[in-house]
Amino acid sequence: MKTMKIKKGDTVHILSGKDRGKQGRVIEARPKDKRVVVENLNMIKRHTRPRPMSSPSRMGQQQLQPGGVIEKAAPIQLSNVMLVCPVCNRPTRVGIEVRDVKSGESSRRVRVCKRDDCREAIDK
Ligand SMILES: [Zn+2]
Repeated sequence: MKTMKIKKGDTVHILSGKDRGKQGRVIEARPKDKRVVVENLNMIKRHTRPRPMSSPSRMGQQQLQPGGVIEKAAPIQLSNVMLVCPVCNRPTRVGIEVRDVKSGESSRRVRVCKRDDCREAIDK
C-alpha cells in the first residue's frame, strides 16, 4: 500500500499559490492524486444551483441557498505543501525511519522531522 508523508490531521505549511506562507490542518488526504485538502486554504469558487440550505440561517429561518458562487477548499499538490513538525513547530521535510519493535512484532515506520536540531518522531 502506498502511503503519503502527509496524513489527515497534520498541519501543513503552504509553499505556493495565493495562500503561500499560511498553515492549516489537513482535512482530507488523497494518496491517489498526491494531493491534500487543507481546511480553509486554497479556496476556490464553485458555481452552484439553488437548493435548500442544510442549516438554518443566522436569522433562524429556513432559506434557499441561492444559486451562484460558493467557496470550497480545493486539493493542493503535495509538492506545494510542507509538513509542520508538531515538535518544533516549523515546516520540515519528512523522513521515514523504521523503528524496531520488540521481537515478535513487526517493525514500525514512523515519520521523523528532518531538521538537524530536531529529528523527533512525528508519529507517536
Ligand atoms: Zn521538528
